[in-house]
Formats: sequence, structure tokens, C-alpha cells
Amino acid sequence: STPRGTRTKEEKIFVTVRVRPLSKKEQALKDHIAWECINDHTVVFKPSCQDRSNSSSSHTFDRVFGPACLTETVYEEGAKDVALSALTGINATIFAYGQTSSGKTYTMRGITENAVNDIYNHIQNTPERDFVIKLSALEIYNEVVKDLLNPDSGPLRLLDDPEQGTVVEKLEEETARSSQHLRQMIAICEAQRQVGETALNDTSSRSHQIIRLTIESMLRENSGCLKSYIATLNFVDLAGSERASQTNADGARLKEGCHINRSLLTLTTVIRKLSAGKKSGHIPYRDSKLTRILQVSLGGNARTAIICTMSPAFTHVEQSRNTLYFATRAK
Ligand code: ADP
Ligand code: MG
Repeated sequence: STPRGTRTKEEKIFVTVRVRPLSKKEQALKDHIAWECINDHTVVFKPSCQDRSNSSSSHTFDRVFGPACLTETVYEEGAKDVALSALTGINATIFAYGQTSSGKTYTMRGITENAVNDIYNHIQNTPERDFVIKLSALEIYNEVVKDLLNPDSGPLRLLDDPEQGTVVEKLEEETARSSQHLRQMIAICEAQRQVGETALNDTSSRSHQIIRLTIESMLRENSGCLKSYIATLNFVDLAGSERASQTNADGARLKEGCHINRSLLTLTTVIRKLSAGKKSGHIPYRDSKLTRILQVSLGGNARTAIICTMSPAFTHVEQSRNTLYFATRAK
């Protein structure tokens, strides 16, 4: 097996891009569509006739989902294989990356819902195995970790366990009694994050949310061998990617790094190094809470899918370019 923290070449990160429809608000502001998905792999920037400062550009990925694509399709073609590998003992992580209001939460909710359906279908079709599914959920806000299943518990510490790697101390983990129960718990965690959002206004642009399923299964004894699997499946709704930009819209360096999100910036470095492979040297997992928590699921025996979300609007071209730049370096 591969030692923790390294990946083999075939465990390539699967990178897709989803361009959402123009929103009502963008339409009301007479914004226009700047990006066109010309096929299943390519998104193209089309400068407006008046705009002479930008030239058209074309960007290619494992899969590009246009505004008409349903989340169902995004799941089937962008996340399903990675998600279901957790049923056979391979750690899996699915990220939504993109600027605030680009569709991360919208996409991630649908992905989670579809994955939960598939997991329970698989359980039903695999009567020879006994499954146990546990849920935990957390939020990282300003490098402070909060339990979304037990929101009154205060900040959680990270501990280094010689066997398991980084563990979140006292993080509540609840066993799902049924698919219904699991869905209920996920809805509660999502609502919990929403509460923070109204109280603190822009929590969701600054915070990372992880919904984590631990999936364990064992062959029944009468079938002979006792092969058991255990893996985690992480659904990660990241902070707005504008929090990782070193430059503002004019390209000028910001005076202070105060709006930079340490976890997001570290994650982009880690992903870039993982995708560059062995030659990239030291991988700085330990530089942020997010990458410490996800280390075992990113390095080691693991599969990763990243869905990069973006607005099609002219107004957001600068951020969309940053997103595509990240996506290009992640693949
Ligand atoms: P983010 O989490 O990246 O800040 P949201 O997921 O909250 O963005 O999306 C912003 C708004 O756009 C929401 O009102 C959401 O319902 C809508 N939206 C996002 N993606 C889509 C899509 N693919 N189709 C239709 N509406 C979308
Ligand atoms: Mg969101």
C-alpha cells in the first residue's frame, strides 16, 4: 500500500467546471453572458464587442457543465465514481470551489443528496454485507473548528493520533439508523450553517463546511471470509475563492492579508502539489486546519473530485478567471 501523504499517479484529481445560469439579479443589472460551454470539455470566454482589453480564451477540463446541466448530471459525471469508492474502503473527498454566489452550496447539496441515495441503493443491493454509516459535520471559520451536529460545544481542538493522523477532539459522530435519519441529520447541519450566516452576515463566504460520512462494512460470517472496509467520504463546501486571491480586481496587491483565508490558500497549494505528483516535494498539510483535517483523505489511499463553480456574467470575469486558473493547476 501507499504510505500516508503520497498518491499514485492513477489517483488523479478529477476536476470539473460548472457554469451556472445568469441569476435574476445579474439579469436585472443588465449583465451579460461572458462564458460559453462549447462542448462537454471546453468553456470559452467571449469578450463583448466594445471590450478591447480582453481577448477570447478557451479552457479545457475533464468535464465542463453548462448552465442547462442538472445537478444530477454534475453528480453522475463529476462526483459519483469518487463518492462510491468510499463503499470499498477508499477515502473520498468532493469539493465545491468558486467565488461567493457561484453555486457551491447549491451544487454540494445536490451532490450530497444524490450520493446518499446511491449509497443506500448500494446497501440494498449488497445483502451479503453489513453496513454502518456514521455522520459528523464541522465548520472552519477563521481557523476555528465548530461542530455542526453539536453547535453549542465551543471550539474543537485538533489532536495528532499516531494511528489515525489528525483527529478532531470531541467531534460528535452519530450513527445513521436509516437513510431517512441520515438525510434529517444532514439537513440539521445545513440549517445550522444557515443560522450562522444570518447572524454573521457573510459566514458562508468565509467558512468551510465539511459533512463527513464514515462508511464501514463487513461480509457476513456465513459467506466465508471476513473482509471489512472502512473509509470516509467528505463533502466540502469551501469558503468563497475570492478569499484565496492574492490580488484584487485591479491586479494590485492587497495591503494586508486579512481577507485571505489561510485554510483555502493552503488547500490550493496542497492540491496543486498533489496534482503535480512526486517531483513537487513537501506538501504543507500542516499549515491549516482544513488541510490537517483532510490530510488522510487527500494523500494516502484516496480519491478526490473538485467541482469548480462560476458565474457566466461579465461582472465576475476576473474571479471566474481565477477559478479556472485554480482548476487548471489542480487537474
Ligand atoms: P455559493 O454557495 O457559491 O455562495 P450558492 O450555491 O448559494 O452560491 O448560489 C447562489 C445563488 O444561485 C443561489 O440562489 C442558488 O440557488 C443559485 N444557483 C446556483 N447555482 C445554480 C444553478 N446551477 N442553477 C440554478 N440556480 C443556481
Ligand atoms: Mg455557499
